[in-house]
Amino acid sequence: MRRKLAAGNWKMNGTSTSLKEAEALAAAFPSPGCEILLCPPATLIHRMSGKLEGSAVMVGGQDCHMALSGAHTGDISAEMLTDAGASHVILGHSERRADHCETDEMVRAKAETAHSQGLVAIICCGEALETREAGETLAHVGRQIAGSLPDGCTGENTVVAYEPIWAIGTGKIPTLAEIGEVHAFIRAELVARFGAETGNAIRLLYGGSVKPSNAAEIFAVADVDGALVGGASLRAEDFGGIVSALENA
Ligand code: PEP
Repeated sequence: MRRKLAAGNWKMNGTSTSLKEAEALAAAFPSPGCEILLCPPATLIHRMSGKLEGSAVMVGGQDCHMALSGAHTGDISAEMLTDAGASHVILGHSERRADHCETDEMVRAKAETAHSQGLVAIICCGEALETREAGETLAHVGRQIAGSLPDGCTGENTVVAYEPIWAIGTGKIPTLAEIGEVHAFIRAELVARFGAETGNAIRLLYGGSVKPSNAAEIFAVADVDGALVGGASLRAEDFGGIVSALENA
Protein backbone atom coordinates (compact mmCIF):
# COMPACT_ATOMS: atom_id res chain seq x y z
CA MET A 1 0.00 0.00 0.00
CA ARG A 2 1.63 3.26 -1.12
CA ARG A 3 1.15 6.31 1.10
CA LYS A 4 -0.44 9.15 -0.80
CA LEU A 5 1.48 12.42 -1.05
CA ALA A 6 0.34 15.97 -1.71
CA ALA A 7 3.46 18.01 -2.49
CA GLY A 8 3.45 21.77 -3.00
CA ASN A 9 6.12 23.53 -5.05
CA TRP A 10 6.19 27.24 -4.28
CA LYS A 11 8.84 27.86 -6.95
CA MET A 12 10.30 31.41 -6.71
CA ASN A 13 7.34 32.67 -4.68
CA GLY A 14 7.07 33.50 -1.03
CA THR A 15 8.57 35.71 1.65
CA SER A 16 8.19 35.82 5.43
CA THR A 17 4.52 36.74 5.23
CA SER A 18 3.77 33.55 3.27
CA LEU A 19 4.70 31.42 6.27
CA LYS A 20 1.20 31.99 7.62
CA GLU A 21 -0.13 29.89 4.73
CA ALA A 22 2.03 26.97 5.85
CA GLU A 23 0.84 27.40 9.43
CA ALA A 24 -2.80 27.55 8.31
CA LEU A 25 -2.35 24.36 6.30
CA ALA A 26 -0.82 22.56 9.28
CA ALA A 27 -3.65 23.77 11.53
CA ALA A 28 -6.27 22.52 9.05
CA PHE A 29 -4.76 19.01 8.87
CA PRO A 30 -3.55 18.01 12.36
CA SER A 31 -3.65 14.31 11.46
CA PRO A 32 -4.10 14.01 7.71
CA GLY A 33 -4.99 10.88 5.81
CA CYS A 34 -2.07 11.44 3.44
CA GLU A 35 1.41 12.91 3.54
CA ILE A 36 1.68 16.67 3.02
CA LEU A 37 4.84 18.42 1.86
CA LEU A 38 5.62 22.05 1.13
CA CYS A 39 8.71 23.02 -0.89
CA PRO A 40 9.23 26.76 -0.38
CA PRO A 41 12.15 28.76 -1.79
CA ALA A 42 15.45 28.00 -0.05
CA THR A 43 15.28 31.24 1.93
CA LEU A 44 12.18 30.01 3.80
CA ILE A 45 13.06 26.36 4.45
CA HIS A 46 14.60 26.86 7.87
CA ARG A 47 11.92 29.20 9.17
CA MET A 48 9.12 27.10 7.76
CA SER A 49 10.56 23.96 9.34
CA GLY A 50 10.61 25.73 12.69
CA LYS A 51 7.02 26.91 12.36
CA LEU A 52 5.84 23.44 11.31
CA GLU A 53 7.76 21.49 13.94
CA GLY A 54 5.47 18.93 15.53
CA SER A 55 2.92 19.25 12.73
CA ALA A 56 2.08 16.75 9.99
CA VAL A 57 3.36 19.02 7.20
CA MET A 58 6.85 18.23 5.95
CA VAL A 59 9.24 20.66 4.25
CA GLY A 60 11.38 20.12 1.17
CA GLY A 61 13.80 21.90 -1.15
CA GLN A 62 13.36 22.60 -4.85
CA ASP A 63 16.85 21.55 -5.95
CA CYS A 64 20.25 20.57 -4.60
CA HIS A 65 23.75 20.39 -6.05
CA MET A 66 25.28 17.08 -7.08
CA ALA A 67 28.44 17.82 -5.07
CA LEU A 68 28.42 17.48 -1.30
CA SER A 69 30.07 20.89 -0.82
CA GLY A 70 32.59 23.22 -2.42
CA ALA A 71 33.05 26.15 -4.76
CA HIS A 72 29.56 26.43 -6.29
CA THR A 73 28.43 30.01 -5.73
CA GLY A 74 24.70 30.37 -5.30
CA ASP A 75 23.99 26.66 -5.05
CA ILE A 76 22.60 24.68 -2.15
CA SER A 77 23.80 21.28 -0.99
CA ALA A 78 21.74 18.30 0.10
CA GLU A 79 23.30 18.53 3.57
CA MET A 80 22.27 22.20 3.80
CA LEU A 81 18.69 21.17 3.05
CA THR A 82 18.60 18.54 5.77
CA ASP A 83 20.33 20.92 8.17
CA ALA A 84 17.61 23.49 7.47
CA GLY A 85 14.90 20.93 8.25
CA ALA A 86 14.03 19.53 4.82
CA SER A 87 13.13 15.87 4.35
CA HIS A 88 12.55 15.93 0.58
CA VAL A 89 13.97 17.63 -2.50
CA ILE A 90 12.41 18.15 -5.94
CA LEU A 91 14.92 17.27 -8.68
CA GLY A 92 14.82 17.69 -12.45
CA HIS A 93 11.75 19.92 -12.55
CA SER A 94 11.15 20.98 -16.17
CA GLU A 95 11.81 24.61 -15.21
CA ARG A 96 15.28 23.67 -13.95
CA ARG A 97 15.88 21.45 -16.97
CA ALA A 98 15.01 24.46 -19.18
CA ASP A 99 16.44 27.38 -17.16
CA HIS A 100 19.62 25.63 -15.97
CA CYS A 101 20.18 23.12 -18.77
CA GLU A 102 19.85 20.20 -16.37
CA THR A 103 20.29 16.86 -18.10
CA ASP A 104 19.13 13.41 -17.03
CA GLU A 105 22.72 12.63 -15.99
CA MET A 106 22.83 15.70 -13.75
CA VAL A 107 19.47 14.85 -12.19
CA ARG A 108 20.66 11.31 -11.54
CA ALA A 109 23.84 12.59 -9.84
CA LYS A 110 21.80 15.00 -7.73
CA ALA A 111 19.45 12.20 -6.71
CA GLU A 112 22.40 10.04 -5.63
CA THR A 113 23.70 12.90 -3.49
CA ALA A 114 20.24 13.60 -2.06
CA HIS A 115 19.85 9.93 -1.14
CA SER A 116 23.27 9.90 0.49
CA GLN A 117 22.11 12.69 2.80
CA GLY A 118 18.84 10.99 3.69
CA LEU A 119 16.58 13.12 1.53
CA VAL A 120 13.62 11.75 -0.40
CA ALA A 121 14.14 12.73 -4.05
CA ILE A 122 11.06 13.74 -6.03
CA ILE A 123 12.34 13.18 -9.56
CA CYS A 124 10.37 14.94 -12.30
CA CYS A 125 9.76 13.92 -15.88
CA GLY A 126 7.35 15.00 -18.59
CA GLU A 127 7.03 15.88 -22.24
CA ALA A 128 6.73 19.13 -24.18
CA LEU A 129 3.65 19.68 -26.33
CA GLU A 130 5.54 18.94 -29.59
CA THR A 131 6.65 15.62 -28.13
CA ARG A 132 3.08 14.67 -27.26
CA GLU A 133 1.81 15.78 -30.64
CA ALA A 134 4.51 13.70 -32.32
CA GLY A 135 3.28 10.64 -30.42
CA GLU A 136 6.59 10.31 -28.57
CA THR A 137 5.49 10.88 -24.99
CA LEU A 138 6.18 7.38 -23.67
CA ALA A 139 9.56 7.12 -25.40
CA HIS A 140 10.56 10.52 -23.99
CA VAL A 141 9.39 9.80 -20.46
CA GLY A 142 11.01 6.36 -20.64
CA ARG A 143 14.36 7.93 -21.50
CA GLN A 144 14.04 10.47 -18.69
CA ILE A 145 13.18 7.77 -16.15
CA ALA A 146 16.04 5.54 -17.28
CA GLY A 147 18.54 8.41 -17.22
CA SER A 148 17.44 10.35 -14.16
CA LEU A 149 16.87 7.63 -11.57
CA PRO A 150 19.97 6.19 -9.89
CA ASP A 151 20.27 2.48 -9.18
CA GLY A 152 19.77 3.01 -5.45
CA CYS A 153 16.13 4.09 -5.73
CA THR A 154 13.69 2.57 -3.25
CA GLY A 155 10.09 3.19 -2.31
CA GLU A 156 11.34 5.09 0.73
CA ASN A 157 13.88 7.40 -0.90
CA THR A 158 12.28 8.15 -4.29
CA VAL A 159 9.07 9.59 -5.67
CA VAL A 160 8.53 10.14 -9.41
CA ALA A 161 6.46 13.10 -10.60
CA TYR A 162 4.98 13.00 -14.10
CA GLU A 163 4.50 16.61 -15.19
CA PRO A 164 3.64 17.31 -18.82
CA ILE A 165 5.39 20.62 -19.49
CA TRP A 166 2.43 21.99 -21.44
CA ALA A 167 0.16 21.42 -18.43
CA ILE A 168 2.32 23.33 -15.94
CA GLY A 169 0.75 26.65 -15.01
CA THR A 170 -1.49 26.65 -18.08
CA GLY A 171 -4.80 25.38 -16.73
CA LYS A 172 -4.67 22.57 -19.31
CA ILE A 173 -4.46 18.95 -18.23
CA PRO A 174 -4.16 15.72 -20.20
CA THR A 175 -7.23 13.53 -20.38
CA LEU A 176 -7.57 11.10 -17.51
CA ALA A 177 -6.85 8.28 -19.97
CA GLU A 178 -3.60 10.00 -21.00
CA ILE A 179 -2.55 10.42 -17.37
CA GLY A 180 -3.39 6.76 -16.73
CA GLU A 181 -1.43 5.64 -19.78
CA VAL A 182 1.75 7.45 -18.73
CA HIS A 183 1.50 6.40 -15.08
CA ALA A 184 0.97 2.75 -16.05
CA PHE A 185 3.97 3.01 -18.38
CA ILE A 186 6.19 4.53 -15.67
CA ARG A 187 5.07 1.84 -13.23
CA ALA A 188 5.98 -0.89 -15.72
CA GLU A 189 9.38 0.73 -16.37
CA LEU A 190 10.09 0.90 -12.62
CA VAL A 191 9.10 -2.73 -12.11
CA ALA A 192 11.27 -3.81 -15.07
CA ARG A 193 14.29 -1.95 -13.72
CA PHE A 194 14.00 -2.29 -9.95
CA GLY A 195 11.92 -5.46 -9.58
CA ALA A 196 8.32 -5.84 -8.50
CA GLU A 197 8.73 -4.97 -4.84
CA THR A 198 10.64 -1.71 -5.30
CA GLY A 199 8.99 -0.82 -8.61
CA ASN A 200 5.56 -1.06 -7.02
CA ALA A 201 6.62 0.84 -3.91
CA ILE A 202 7.89 4.03 -5.62
CA ARG A 203 5.12 6.59 -5.58
CA LEU A 204 4.00 8.36 -8.75
CA LEU A 205 2.66 11.89 -8.56
CA TYR A 206 0.84 13.73 -11.31
CA GLY A 207 1.69 17.43 -11.72
CA GLY A 208 0.34 20.15 -13.99
CA SER A 209 -2.57 22.50 -13.23
CA VAL A 210 -3.96 20.40 -10.37
CA LYS A 211 -6.66 22.40 -8.56
CA PRO A 212 -9.29 21.63 -5.93
CA SER A 213 -11.84 21.38 -8.76
CA ASN A 214 -10.03 18.67 -10.77
CA ALA A 215 -8.07 16.88 -8.04
CA ALA A 216 -10.61 14.17 -7.19
CA GLU A 217 -10.91 12.90 -10.77
CA ILE A 218 -7.13 12.86 -11.20
CA PHE A 219 -6.63 11.01 -7.91
CA ALA A 220 -9.10 8.35 -9.06
CA VAL A 221 -6.76 7.37 -11.91
CA ALA A 222 -4.85 4.12 -11.29
CA ASP A 223 -1.23 4.58 -10.21
CA VAL A 224 -1.71 8.25 -9.30
CA ASP A 225 -0.42 8.34 -5.72
CA GLY A 226 -0.80 12.07 -5.24
CA ALA A 227 0.17 15.35 -6.86
CA LEU A 228 2.98 17.83 -7.25
CA VAL A 229 1.23 21.19 -7.17
CA GLY A 230 2.58 24.59 -8.15
CA GLY A 231 0.24 27.57 -8.22
CA ALA A 232 -2.52 26.00 -6.15
CA SER A 233 -0.12 25.21 -3.31
CA LEU A 234 0.58 28.85 -2.48
CA ARG A 235 -2.61 29.38 -0.51
CA ALA A 236 -3.62 27.06 2.32
CA GLU A 237 -7.25 27.16 1.26
CA ASP A 238 -6.54 25.95 -2.29
CA PHE A 239 -3.93 23.38 -1.31
CA GLY A 240 -6.21 22.22 1.50
CA GLY A 241 -8.88 21.42 -1.08
CA ILE A 242 -6.40 19.22 -2.95
CA VAL A 243 -5.24 17.54 0.27
CA SER A 244 -8.86 16.79 1.19
CA ALA A 245 -9.47 15.25 -2.24
CA LEU A 246 -6.40 13.06 -1.78
CA GLU A 247 -7.48 11.97 1.71
CA ASN A 248 -10.78 10.84 0.24
CA ALA A 249 -9.34 9.15 -2.86
C1 PEP B 1 4.76 22.44 -11.11
O1 PEP B 1 5.43 23.32 -11.61
O2 PEP B 1 5.31 21.51 -10.50
C2 PEP B 1 3.32 22.50 -11.28
C3 PEP B 1 2.67 21.38 -11.29
O3 PEP B 1 2.76 23.76 -11.46
P1 PEP B 1 1.19 24.09 -11.57
O4 PEP B 1 0.47 23.25 -10.54
O5 PEP B 1 1.10 25.54 -11.30
O6 PEP B 1 0.77 23.70 -12.95
